[in-house]
Amino acid sequence: MKRFKHFDASTIEEAVKLLDTYENSSYVIAGGSDLMGCLKDNLWMEFPEAIINIKTIPALNTITVEKDGLHIGALVTLTEIAECESVKKTWAGLAEAARRTASPILRNMGTIAGNICQENRCWYYRYPDKIGGSIDCVRKGGKRCLAVPGDHRFHSIFGAVCKCIAVNPSDTAPALVALNAVVTTTKRQIPIDEFFSAENGAGSTILDRNEIVTKIFVPTPVENAKK
Ligand SMILES: Cc1cc2nc3c(=O)[nH]c(=O)nc-3n(C[C@H](O)[C@H](O)[C@H](O)COP(=O)(O)OP(=O)(O)OC[C@H]3O[C@@H](n4cnc5c(N)ncnc54)[C@H](O)[C@@H]3O)c2cc1C
Ligand code: SF4
Repeated sequence: MKRFKHFDASTIEEAVKLLDTYENSSYVIAGGSDLMGCLKDNLWMEFPEAIINIKTIPALNTITVEKDGLHIGALVTLTEIAECESVKKTWAGLAEAARRTASPILRNMGTIAGNICQENRCWYYRYPDKIGGSIDCVRKGGKRCLAVPGDHRFHSIFGAVCKCIAVNPSDTAPALVALNAVVTTTKRQIPIDEFFSAENGAGSTILDRNEIVTKIFVPTPVENAKK
């Protein structure tokens, strides 16, 4: 792996400032279960100069149930969601999706924000640089999608977005979409069904490079709210 600068941010403001300082050459890291693989495989066209650790920001790791719904801090782990009795009772689909993600170790490391911000898992896109050089498909600025004529098992059956047929790999995403979740970032509030995108090139969301997810809100289902 190439060398990079590593910063522990202690506040959200500090993390955003560092992202601004390193502009298009930095990423935040939470659990690191996806990002470290991307770095190891030299996935992106440019290797980042700086990695900003947000696990050191205490304000982001709380999960609270309020009358209007469930407020999940960006750093809450998938294990915490899967094992939370309130989530299991009222938002069972989300608890189940978190419980089924990857393996226990990855669920202990992986955060909810990291889960919805992870890179797509198309094997052409993820092809490790060290095995003969990276494959530059449309999503990496190349001219064509290798999956269309090639191996497209597990790819989209609904057609392409910007010539890319990769699907979003997040296991919690379908549950969050079904539950009408809203993502809060350092810049705005985004309804979850507007959050994911293949139009940004690398990355699977509409987020700007200096934008951080701080919270995910899941409303109380209507039938429960009436009680
Ligand atoms: C072997 C293996 C199996 C896996 N299986 C599954 C699976 O079955 N289902 C599944 O859904 N996922 C799977 N994953 C992907 C991943 O580990 C999980 O989705 C995990 O939840 C990612 O969270 P993280 O905190 O580790 O993210 P990180 O690796 O820290 O970050 C992932 C990405 O999100 C960005 N990011 C992180 N936090 C924020 C934030 N607050 N705001 C903005 N951007 C942010 C990072 O910059 C990075 O680009 C797997 C990974 C591995 C290595
Ligand atoms: S364009 Fe999309 S589906 Fe095609 S190879 Fe690249 S990431 Fe995979």
